[in-house]
Amino acid sequence: MSTIAEPQFPTIGSHPQGTDSASPFEEMMSRFDLAAQKLGLDPGLYKVLREPVRETKVSIPVAMDDGRIEVFIGYRVLHNIARGPGKGGIRFDKNVSLDEVRALAAWMTWKCAVVNIPFGGAKGGVICDPQSLSRAELERITRRYTAELMDQFGPEKDVPAPDMGTNPQTMAWVMDTYSMHARHTVTSVVTGKPLSLGGSRGRVEATGRGLMLIAREAAPLRGLTLKGSRIVVQGFGNVGSIAARMCHEQGAKIVAVSDIHGGIQNANGIDIPALIAHYEKGKSLKGFPGTQPVSNEALLELDCDILIPAANENQIRQKNAGNIKAKIIVEGANGPTTQRADEVLNGKNVLVVPDILANAGGVTVSYFEWVQDRAGFFWRESEVNERLEDIMVQSFRDVAQMAEKYGVSFRIAAYMLGISRVAHDTMVRGLYA
Ligand code: GLU
Repeated sequence: MSTIAEPQFPTIGSHPQGTDSASPFEEMMSRFDLAAQKLGLDPGLYKVLREPVRETKVSIPVAMDDGRIEVFIGYRVLHNIARGPGKGGIRFDKNVSLDEVRALAAWMTWKCAVVNIPFGGAKGGVICDPQSLSRAELERITRRYTAELMDQFGPEKDVPAPDMGTNPQTMAWVMDTYSMHARHTVTSVVTGKPLSLGGSRGRVEATGRGLMLIAREAAPLRGLTLKGSRIVVQGFGNVGSIAARMCHEQGAKIVAVSDIHGGIQNANGIDIPALIAHYEKGKSLKGFPGTQPVSNEALLELDCDILIPAANENQIRQKNAGNIKAKIIVEGANGPTTQRADEVLNGKNVLVVPDILANAGGVTVSYFEWVQDRAGFFWRESEVNERLEDIMVQSFRDVAQMAEKYGVSFRIAAYMLGISRVAHDTMVRGLYA
């Protein structure tokens, strides 16, 4: 295990443009800079808030099913703990990098502050291709990763959750490994667990439900109602498929969806529950009756009212932003839009509801799960969903108000709200020396 130190001496405004796809951390910092400038953030606080508390790289040696030994690389970045324990998912993906995990950890800090839950920000990742690994190999990777980070995780320290490539089963392995070392069962060390092991009702659907609620709140700002809106969803994993289903249930027309292999479209609307059943059987969208194929690039530019990017980072860039026809973008993914694309979209009066607000439903119900585990008392699904709705609607209004007051985009308003809360609490705590 090693801790990586990279001394940097930044000043506010040194990341004005973003990189339009090269570095997620630069993309995050470009927005952070704009928000810090608008807030008139103290330069000392700026230095404190931009710098992650800790970055850890772990080596994960694993015996593969065929007897070979493979070594995977994993990271955990604890970005900020001013408002509570670190919180954020673990990503299993072949494109994981320290830069990406660092950006994702910072986004978690701002996201938790935007929805005003008592967590800081963290994120983890392992460079691997979960599609090509067996269940047993995934279990060994997860357990060794958790064991390497045993001293850093903890209900009061840093609480992981699912992200791309991980799921409730992965979280059960994290919980079990941590508990074996602790010598007692510690359910609140991780969220997004199976229901029977301290999971929360509504957690699996939470990010998708939150996106639907945000789309519903945003629609009137562009003269729309969710019911009857034509929606395109990029990504058909846990986030995209459930957002599509929830919007469909509210009477929206889902006109196109895609997964990593490409998309399908039908201008009259796709029967989403039937598509989910088809996808569960064949793990493919292809050939779903009544739809035509569409590439992932073309899908983003389709005629629609609301676009929900729920796949990867940097999908909407300077080069395609001008072709986007949606009036509203509700970001299901983390970091799907670059800073340069934001400028193009703002120029076209597209309402972009940013990731750190739009997809915060997941971590909000993670917070409920952590609370329930610590109390040992579990809520009805209707209670979870009502509390989630209260928080999403209130946060949307807080961000809208900030945008109005300062004449900035929803993205910069959300950063301003998150940063100002973390900055305030950092000041009140004071610096320990
Ligand atoms: N991975 C999710 C996110 O990016 C959820 C994190 C959590 O629940 O801690 O927000």
